[in-house]
Amino acid sequence: MQANVNREATQSFMEREIERLKQADLDWKVHELDGPSQPRTSVDGKKDVVVLCSNNYLGLANHPKLKEAAIRAVEEYGAGSGSVRVIAGTMKIHLDLERILANFKGVEDSIVFQSGFVTNAGCIQQLVEEGDLIISDELNHGSIIDGCRLTAAKRVVYKHIDMEDLTKVLDLNASGSRRILVITDGVFSMDGDIAPLDKITKIAKDFGAMVYVDDAHGDGVLGENGRGIVNHFKLEGKVDIEMGTFSKAFGVVGGYVVGSHTLKEYLLNKVRPYLLSGSHPPAVVGACIAAIRLIESDPSIVQRLWDNARYFKKGLKDAGFDTGQSETPITPIMCGESSVAQSLAQEAFAGGVFVLPIIYPMVARNRARIRTIVTAAHSKEDLDFALDVFQKSGKKIGLI
Ligand SMILES: *Cc1c(COP(=O)(O)O)cnc(C)c1O
Repeated sequence: MQANVNREATQSFMEREIERLKQADLDWKVHELDGPSQPRTSVDGKKDVVVLCSNNYLGLANHPKLKEAAIRAVEEYGAGSGSVRVIAGTMKIHLDLERILANFKGVEDSIVFQSGFVTNAGCIQQLVEEGDLIISDELNHGSIIDGCRLTAAKRVVYKHIDMEDLTKVLDLNASGSRRILVITDGVFSMDGDIAPLDKITKIAKDFGAMVYVDDAHGDGVLGENGRGIVNHFKLEGKVDIEMGTFSKAFGVVGGYVVGSHTLKEYLLNKVRPYLLSGSHPPAVVGACIAAIRLIESDPSIVQRLWDNARYFKKGLKDAGFDTGQSETPITPIMCGESSVAQSLAQEAFAGGVFVLPIIYPMVARNRARIRTIVTAAHSKEDLDFALDVFQKSGKKIGLI
């Protein structure tokens, strides 16, 4: 009897919250892809839809070389790893990936975690503690925000990519702090703008602060052969912690930190998900290795991404859309009110293009948008088709 009463209480608090989210139009609807992540696929039962909202920048998620490598790794090492990394869950293939990644990035060493989210949640709390200070860009990713919440360090936010404000915030808060960590996204996921990492490292140095960059959207996109934001700004050796993910341009899953041997040894002794959560299954590791090899050996893939991004951006601008501040393949179509972004996404889907509205609270109330991300795998026909659909939809709802 008692148990039933409690269950009802649980159900009703969940139902109330779901109702509140629905009323505010803040609830997520999960969309079903019936097939691989690729430029055209079936979405929610609608066939042959052009996908413009994945993070599969280089089209590697369904690449034959990655699939082949995953299958080979399963045959050689099995379906699972059997343990956490520090007990019996480090196979040769895990160490191979870390060596190959470090080599690709031109650093001493690297350490791989289960995901990018886990990397931020697990690492930040080991770099600062009570008596220390974290300085964070106001638009940093949620996994950085959560990572910062897991420390007792003092946290202060600076205005988005505003170097004057960063300096001011450091001036106001640095004295009395033991260690200072300045932390930023490399490429910001909602606007596609790039953090001025060259300036950030200079300012941080003046205050003796460490710099931590999350390059989730810069890996495979920026720099020579997609080596990322540190390579893009030629800052090798000047960024203390370079973090990234295998779930976006690399097309698989996993997070990592690259840097010195000491950094790796420190993190492998301290980061709780590394010590306490199972390591990647061999298929994941094999596919990640294949992704790096492919990008390193074929510069045309990253080139194609940029050609497509420029072509698509220009097409949107020529049609009269406001594409915001983007400097990368993330291209927003600014809509203003949430309802406009929602209508544009609905019209686009009806026309055969899959994109999602980005609305408050993900962005400010009057800055709702559609976020488009082209990939290296889209053909010119895919992009022309999508541009035509956006143009018709934009006109129909009165945005252009
Ligand atoms: C996607 C993303 C992450 C999370 O990476 P996963 O590997 O998908 O967990 C972390 N930081 C930023 C900036 C991201 O965009």
